[in-house]
Amino acid sequence: MSRQSIIAKVLVGGTVVTGQTGHPVLPDHDVWLSGDTISAITPSGEHDVPEQCEVIDARHAIVMPGLIDSHRHLWQTTLRGMCSDMIAPEYRHQLREALVPFFRPEDVYAATLAGALELIDCGITTVLDWVHILNSPQHADASIAALRTSGMRAIFAHSAPNDMEASLWWSNSERKHPADVRRVREELSDKDALVTMAFGARAPHLVQREVRNHDWHLARELDLRIVTDGGIGGGLWAGRTYPIRLLQQDGLLWPGTVYVHCNNLAPDEYALIRESGGYISASPCAEMYVGFGMPATLDALAHGIRPALSTDSVTFVAGDMFGTMRSTLTSLRGMLGYKATAQEEGVGPWEITSADIFEMATARGAEALGLADRVGTLEVGKAADIVILNTRSVRLSPLNNPIATIALLATPADVETVLVAGNVVKREGKLVQFDQGRVVDDLVRSRDWLITKGGAELGPAVQKGLASCGLDQLIVPSRPPKHEGAGDV
Ligand SMILES: [Zn+2]
Repeated sequence: MSRQSIIAKVLVGGTVVTGQTGHPVLPDHDVWLSGDTISAITPSGEHDVPEQCEVIDARHAIVMPGLIDSHRHLWQTTLRGMCSDMIAPEYRHQLREALVPFFRPEDVYAATLAGALELIDCGITTVLDWVHILNSPQHADASIAALRTSGMRAIFAHSAPNDMEASLWWSNSERKHPADVRRVREELSDKDALVTMAFGARAPHLVQREVRNHDWHLARELDLRIVTDGGIGGGLWAGRTYPIRLLQQDGLLWPGTVYVHCNNLAPDEYALIRESGGYISASPCAEMYVGFGMPATLDALAHGIRPALSTDSVTFVAGDMFGTMRSTLTSLRGMLGYKATAQEEGVGPWEITSADIFEMATARGAEALGLADRVGTLEVGKAADIVILNTRSVRLSPLNNPIATIALLATPADVETVLVAGNVVKREGKLVQFDQGRVVDDLVRSRDWLITKGGAELGPAVQKGLASCGLDQLIVPSRPPKHEGAGDV
């Protein structure tokens, strides 16, 4: 028996939503896998299933490309929900400066692994993990180890520390990007591996001009895609820093750069992103919750940019792309309706549809991350990163519109089976290869240790939330330093 026949799989009889241009949907089709790759998509029953081929029944389901989260901070999984009622400055002072400096490498590992498994559970097969907890080389190693262990496709975006000197890294910073990025580049040099690398550049307005130039050229020297985060255009103040113009003045607007958020840029800045071949990753839920204003989606679309979507951080909101897709279209149509009403006009017909939103969470994400040749759509020759969505349930039956079902109706509870590179990582509603209880226990232990260590400086909103879980006993005085002026999210 050949290896090929052992590892072949076929997903039988599903409603296949390919995600390709024009949004073709193929009812009652089989998806054939050979190893980590899609080898054929055929009408169901057209070919006999070889004896050695593993059959996965999808007759009750949508078969779709794995979702792509183009910007997430997995190390913040431990801080889930702590900032849900905070504005950005409170998040910075009550968590980033009070608690976060105490993160140990094992805390980063526990959070990243739990967060990655959460993604798989929710049907997200690719993530860009923007890692700004690199307080030591061991913190970077822990993050990479957890991503590799999870079995998902991930891009480790190497950023900066969040240590006892956070403000020196994250506000008008004179500090250049950490030199350890060169070592990590060696470690993640295989472009075909499941875990690859990007350059997590601090937002242009958070660093001094000399640092900006240094960092952008360092990324180019290391042949790394730049993904820049840190509240770009987030709220009035950040918008008025004109971060894209700052890059233009030094010739740093390079093709392939991903700009995260971009809520309140000047009109010429959206045009500069498009003309330079850049991408936008919008995180509508997190942005609206934290007070950045309306998402950049409408402005981006008006300037010919189709943004990728991202969840950002579970410190604010849930980390699934179904909620993100819904919020994206909700906010878009809300804005259009509001504008039309203000002008005493009617709305529509809608130019942006659920299919466009689905694309932002799949193909557009793949393009932004430079992975369009591998993931984002179901096509022969592409990686077998696939989600099976059970539609035979009281939540999703009857199936009348597959794409709207994905973009607007489904929840993580409907994700039945997930494959990454042909490997089944979730089967019939359960994560495989992991003892979920153990992963959660490690995460809770890490949380307990962190709030014991950092508790004295935690702000009232965090303390109140923890106390309401009976965790006030864990909050014991310590002496973390206070910093002023950090300006990012
Ligand atoms: Zn972010």
